[in-house]
Amino acid sequence: MRDMGLVVVGAAGRMGLELVRAVHEAQGARVVGAIEREGSPAIGKDIGELAGLGPSGVMVSDDPLAAFASADGVLDFTMPAASIAFAGYAAQARIVHVLGTTGLSAKDDAAIAAAARHATIVKSGNMSLGVNLLALLVEQAARALSAKDFDIEVLEMHHRNKVDAPSGTALLLGQAAAAGRGIELAGNDVRVRDGYTGARETGSIGFATLRGGSVPGDHSVILAGNGETITLSHHAQDRAIFARGAVKAALWARGRKPGLFSMRDVLGL
Ligand code: NAP
Repeated sequence: MRDMGLVVVGAAGRMGLELVRAVHEAQGARVVGAIEREGSPAIGKDIGELAGLGPSGVMVSDDPLAAFASADGVLDFTMPAASIAFAGYAAQARIVHVLGTTGLSAKDDAAIAAAARHATIVKSGNMSLGVNLLALLVEQAARALSAKDFDIEVLEMHHRNKVDAPSGTALLLGQAAAAGRGIELAGNDVRVRDGYTGARETGSIGFATLRGGSVPGDHSVILAGNGETITLSHHAQDRAIFARGAVKAALWARGRKPGLFSMRDVLGL
């Protein structure tokens, strides 16, 4: 089978360049397009050179439709408004869309679900093997330890340039905890605390957000009982783990029918 042709959108961003390097290292895939927004200083430059790999012959363009038309899939770690548009184009082209962008609203999620009628979309707030395994462990722990006896708090820290909070990963872990408890996260989440908040509500799932430095992503789920605390943690040391997961997701999705899938589907967890 020929290599899977992938377009990296937001190609000159932090994750975009990691994705270009991850595709270069992977077997069975190659970069056939690199997209940035109109007016970006990266337009017209060779994406291989921008990623430190040497000339690739793929120039950064601002025309996603043309790039998607001759590709098998798209790797997208950009921003919500852009990802909604890219999902629509991927649906038109009936190709794979690996979606790592975080900070999507419920309305954005509905637009992604609609696009997944024609595109094969793998969407996850975290594409790493470690975090997806952690989510499974969190779900088990939340199921085993009752809400009456153990409170669940999710703590995260990211680099100073991150624009959304809590992180997509923190929400993914919160959702895993909620699933373990048999409740919805929406309505049971406490995303910030400030001032005279009153006592903690039994069964709620709390979030705390730290920002600073260059941290690629630290997450801890704390299960706090009377007299004992369990902490389940993941520390990302390198953004490459997310990029490798995204390429794995694209190769997994190739040839599958349209639909909305998660990294748990890809990893078989
Ligand atoms: P970043 O460095 O800001 O990169 C985003 C890139 O997308 C930028 O180059 C940006 O260009 C570009 N872009 C924005 N709108 C565009 C459009 N309409 N057309 C083409 N390109 C566009 O951010 P990042 O750190 O790489 O993170 C990107 C996203 O991935 C965030 O939502 C982050 O939370 C998420 N993320 C997810 C995972 C995961 O495993 N799921 C892991 C890490 C990060 P401009 O600079 O011109 O705006």
